[in-house]
Parts: sequence; C-alpha cells; structure tokens
Amino acid sequence: MSSRNRSMSSEQLEVLRSRVKGAVLTPEDAGYGDARTLWNGMIERHPAAIVRCRGAADVIAVVNFARSTQLPLSIRAGGHSVAGKAICDDGIVIDLSAMNGVRVDPARRRAYAGAGALWEDFDHEAQAFGLACTGGVVSTTGVAGLTLGGGIGYLTRSRGLACDNLMAADVVTADGRLVHASEAENADLLWALRGGGGNFGVVTSLEFQLHELGPKVAAATVFHEVDAAPEVLRTYRDFALSAPDELACYAMFVNAPPDFPPEHQNKPVLAIVACYSGEISRGLELLAPLASWGTPLLSAIDEMSYIVLQTAFNAGSPHGARYYWKSQYLTSLPDELIDTLAEFAGDLHGSYSIIGIEPLGGFQGRVAPSATAFAYRDVPFSLGIWTGWSDAAEDERNIAWTRKFFETVRPFGSGVYVNYLGEDEADRVGEAYGDNFARILEIKKKWDPENLFRENQNIR
Ligand SMILES: Cc1cc2nc3c(=O)[nH]c(=O)nc-3n(C[C@H](O)[C@H](O)[C@H](O)COP(=O)(O)OP(=O)(O)OC[C@H]3O[C@@H](n4cnc5c(N)ncnc54)[C@H](O)[C@@H]3O)c2cc1C
Repeated sequence: MSSRNRSMSSEQLEVLRSRVKGAVLTPEDAGYGDARTLWNGMIERHPAAIVRCRGAADVIAVVNFARSTQLPLSIRAGGHSVAGKAICDDGIVIDLSAMNGVRVDPARRRAYAGAGALWEDFDHEAQAFGLACTGGVVSTTGVAGLTLGGGIGYLTRSRGLACDNLMAADVVTADGRLVHASEAENADLLWALRGGGGNFGVVTSLEFQLHELGPKVAAATVFHEVDAAPEVLRTYRDFALSAPDELACYAMFVNAPPDFPPEHQNKPVLAIVACYSGEISRGLELLAPLASWGTPLLSAIDEMSYIVLQTAFNAGSPHGARYYWKSQYLTSLPDELIDTLAEFAGDLHGSYSIIGIEPLGGFQGRVAPSATAFAYRDVPFSLGIWTGWSDAAEDERNIAWTRKFFETVRPFGSGVYVNYLGEDEADRVGEAYGDNFARILEIKKKWDPENLFRENQNIR
C-alpha cells in the first residue's frame, strides 16, 4: 500500500472491488492521476479510491461501503465545481463520468440523462430533434452538478433554470436505497434537488422537460474597449432590464481573444454576448441596436448554431488552469457599480479571467421563491469575478486582487449562487440558500441524517 493510501487497507480495497463492476482506481493504478484531476487546477486532493461507477448498482455498493467504513465520500459528475468538492482526500470518489448516456423521447419532449453526462452530450442528443433545455454556457460542464445547484444559461429567462426543468431523478440515498423523486413520489426530495446541491444523495439519472429550439438561434457578440465600458454598460443595463424573456444578454470583461489585432492582445475588452431563444427574425431585429452602442471594436450579430454558441466560452476556461472565484447576486446595476467594475476590469488579473454579469429575471424570476430550493428569484443579475491563470507563482497576487475586488463591490448585492461558491466559502452556504435554508435543512435531516454526503457545499 502506498503512503497515500493510508486510509484504506488492502482487505477493504478487495471487498470494494468485489462489489462493483466499474474500475476502482487507487494511487498504484495507471489512470489514478488523471482521474483525480479537476477543472480547477488549484485543487489537489488524493482519494484512497476512485470508483468509475457503471450504474446505480455500483453507486449503491459504494454508498454502503463508505457508510460502513466511515470513509469520506465525494461525488464527481463533470468535475467543474470551482470548489473542487468532487474529489476528497483519503476517501472514496463516486466517479459518474462513465454514466453519461442521454436518451431523448421527442414525442414526450423528455430527456433522460445519466448523471455523468456533460452539457455537450445533452445538447448533441436533444438538438438532433430540435429540442433543448437550459444548460450552462460552457459545454464541458456537468449536467448533474449544474442542475442540482440551479442552472443558469441562455435559456434561463425564457424556459427557467435547469432545475426548473428537472422533472424527476433517481437517487441513491444515504441508507443505500434507490428512490425515484418526482412531483408524485418523494416530492420533498425533488424540491430539494432543484437547487439544493449534492446534499441529499447520489443522483444517478435525471429526467428533463425539453423545449423546441434551434438548430439556429439569433445571437450577438459585440466587443468594446474597456475605456468605453462605463457608457456601454449603462446602455446594457437599461436594455437587459427591459428585454423580453427570450433575450438573454451577458456583459463580460475578458482578455481580448487571440484573433484580435496585436495592439489588443493581453488587454481586457468588454464583450456583450446575447442569445434570443424565440423566432430568429424577431431576435435579429431586437439585437441590431447592439451594433450602435458606442463604437464597437468588433460586432457579430447573426443567426448561429445553438450548439456552437454553447461552446463559445470553452477555450477561454481551460481544464487544469488555476481558478479563484467570488460571486454575488445584484439587486441593481447602479452607475457607481458600473464605474467600479470598469476600473477593476482595466487591471484584469489572470489570462483566463472573466468579470461577468449574467442576466436573470424573465420566466425563472416569476417562479415562486419557495417553489424549489433555489431561493433567489427576484434578482436581475448575478455578478461573477471569475479569476483564472496558469502559473502557480501568481496565486497569491491573483487571489488578493479577487478578494479586494469582491470586498469593494460587496455592498451592491446580496446572496450567492451555490454553484459559484469557492473552496474557502463554507461560511456562505446559508447565504446561498437564503429564505429556503430552514426547509432544505429539514429535508437534509430526513434523507441524510448522519451527513454522509458532506463533501459538498454542506448543509449542516
Ligand atoms: C467553466 C465553467 C463554466 C460554468 N458556467 C456555468 C453556467 O453558465 N451556468 C451555471 O449555472 N453554472 C455554471 N458553472 C458552475 C457549475 O454549475 C458548477 O461548477 C457545477 O458544480 C458543475 O457541475 P459538475 O457536474 O461539472 O461538477 P462536479 O465538480 O462534478 O460536481 C460538483 C458537486 O455537485 C454535486 N454533484 C454532482 N453530481 C452529483 C450527483 N450525480 N448526485 C449528487 N450530487 C452531485 C456534488 O456535491 C459535487 O461535489 C460553470 C462552471 C465552470 C467551471
């Protein structure tokens, strides 16, 4: 046994291997190193074993094993959580990545996704039938982790959060049973899965309702110099706040993309990125004015493939780079905040950094705050300070910058999206659940009284 595998005896390992069909990777096995890596390269953890579960039976076996051995247990779907909770130290990882099949029933407009599916798997299957569901804006993100925390994307304003479209789920509970959660059966569990995160059990499969969309949508990407941001963002704010549900308009400070002229390289720019999820001609009409906000560096307003749009940010958020995030909801976007954002963006730290304003409201904003575990229905925007870089020598400087930035803008908002919480933000879990915290806690106590599922943004 390696010094790393100090928490598990070879007899225990043998028992675990005998109970599952999927591969069990330990520090001695080829593939262990890759299997424990996460999207956020800042997180380095060494589990005793990673089980590549092949189905619900494997998941049940691992849950029972972890409960009886009292070893830490974590759940990995797409591995994109910035907090890196998917991998635990000295415990067992339920790795769902092999359970990534997605089946679409076009007649009933339903998709059944294995818990290891990524949004690119989901979109590929659903778009074959001209159907879609709200997903995130980076297609390599996991369906399960994103949906269980809420799920914000281009379709949130027109079709709700991803979790609003979650109709049912199969869940392996802390006592090792497989239960179905729907509005008719274990409705409290479904309520909690719609935004309450990974606290209640291991979801093995998710059923979504689908909507007609694509294959093309009207979309816009318009870039501006940072100096123009104070003026452009004022126009953006008024536009985004009065937009119809079908229009989702993001504002993001990023480093200039590689195809920009040399004078802009390694310099931040403001990108306005919009998607209209209704009739294309109406979308192009609504998006046309974006080209005349100030003097854009580049403006592309056209119809485009929804699948391509879903991958537009992938390259800018590479796997294994170093990330440190701070985020909060915004109740408004006053001039003073806009000026502060532009000021910090002018000194953007980190080559993969994004300062993003995500549009909320619309249909999802009209869902009652108590209807699902996702409490924040009345805020128009979420602000993300998503700092990313590649060199470990820059860790301290970039983390300090992100914290300073966040403290400066903190008075302008309240509440936070649980899926954006970082590793050092356990004290904000209550804030993430807002007024729904008491009910979430009650449901946690019912389904996981011993807190077996605690390697997450944990509800205590
Ligand atoms: C580049 C990038 C872009 C993003 N863009 C968006 C976006 O547009 N919209 C948005 O809403 N979010 C976005 N996010 C945040 C995203 O929602 C979270 O990172 C989410 O946790 C990713 O899910 P995952 O399955 O990939 O993560 P993982 O790291 O695998 O899982 C995260 C946690 O979710 C829980 N979990 C996962 N699967 C299960 C399961 N089957 N059963 C029980 N619990 C489970 C566990 O607690 C686990 O620790 C983005 C993240 C990144 C890194």
